[in-house]
Amino acid sequence: MSNNTGKVLESYPMNGGDGAYSYTKNSYLQRAATSITDAKIHEAITEKLDIGKLSSTSNTLRIADLGCSVGPNTFIAMQNVLEAMQHKHRTQDPSSKFPEFQVLYNDHASNDFNTLFASLPSERQYFAAGVPGSFYNRLFPKSSLHFVHSSYALQWLAKVPEEVLDKNSPAWNKGRIHYTNAAEDVGNAYAAQFAKDMGIFLDARAKELVAGGMMVLILPSIPDGIPNSRVPAGVMFDLLGSSLMDMAKEEIISESLVDSFNLPVYAASLKEMKDIIERNGCFSIEKIETTNPLSKIDIQLGTRPCTMHLRAGMEGIISKHFGNKIIDELFDRLDRKAEEYSYLLNASYTAGTQLFIVLTRK
Ligand code: SAH
Repeated sequence: MSNNTGKVLESYPMNGGDGAYSYTKNSYLQRAATSITDAKIHEAITEKLDIGKLSSTSNTLRIADLGCSVGPNTFIAMQNVLEAMQHKHRTQDPSSKFPEFQVLYNDHASNDFNTLFASLPSERQYFAAGVPGSFYNRLFPKSSLHFVHSSYALQWLAKVPEEVLDKNSPAWNKGRIHYTNAAEDVGNAYAAQFAKDMGIFLDARAKELVAGGMMVLILPSIPDGIPNSRVPAGVMFDLLGSSLMDMAKEEIISESLVDSFNLPVYAASLKEMKDIIERNGCFSIEKIETTNPLSKIDIQLGTRPCTMHLRAGMEGIISKHFGNKIIDELFDRLDRKAEEYSYLLNASYTAGTQLFIVLTRK
């Protein structure tokens, strides 16, 4: 298919259901992080989205959430976007016909859409639909979307960069599972993969969004000049890697299995993202800024929430590689290690670790 919609890519869904380790119960950090962007999204829609123009060409306004997972965060985010668009319509164009809204929930086909659909808000003022597939492909017909939202999903690469798995490459990532604290070549391989994936993402969205349509992206970021080992996610990834290496040393798992495992996640800097967007050329940058995702969490970030949070997001990909028998032991070890190294977490940077981007389709 010329538009790539059928291509199978790797997928790493969050834990489904609503049990103790589910994403539903362990995604409040993402919610706290994005709660600070709700008002910013409202402002962007009020100031930069021409609802009058959009609704003059379509009776239905379509909003897509890319990488929605299972909720509840996606419902809150979509409600916020919807209310802002309705408000803008009422103030900009009170006499015109009120458009209908459709919200398109996208995630990998392996996402737990059953949980998502079963918990859709009953009072919603929009038509809901699920769209399965990777957002590193085309997902929607040409010029069919008016608003695209994606939060805490674009840090997932389409795949682990090949060089880090290649024993003959200087980027071979032996003994580690991420570029945090790894050789520079490893970081470069991840950065190149991110740039490639994001280029594909922007190309696809440029086709799907109507002219004047808006796209809001919220993703983890790394402040300029700060190594990944000094932000909370980096600290946790490194401790997870060393827990796995401990298990390899104790011969619970094989070392080569650890060598061949790498987390396909990347945190870009503001400058990196800006360059990639400008290179694509299809979008005007209305706003690009970094924020502190934890500024609304007033308690000291404990180690237990950090491991639970990591487990909800990473259990799937880890079990796929190592089998699910090691999961409980691995996360017990991680809990203890995070406690032991809590000073690293406490001393990590949180300011500037979230990127907030508003784009409009030229
Ligand atoms: N937006 C939600 C969920 C974030 S979890 C929130 O803010 O809480 C990240 C989600 O992105 C996961 O559900 C994962 O499956 C999804 N994801 C990662 N890569 C993806 C891709 N290439 N295509 C579609 N969804 C993807």
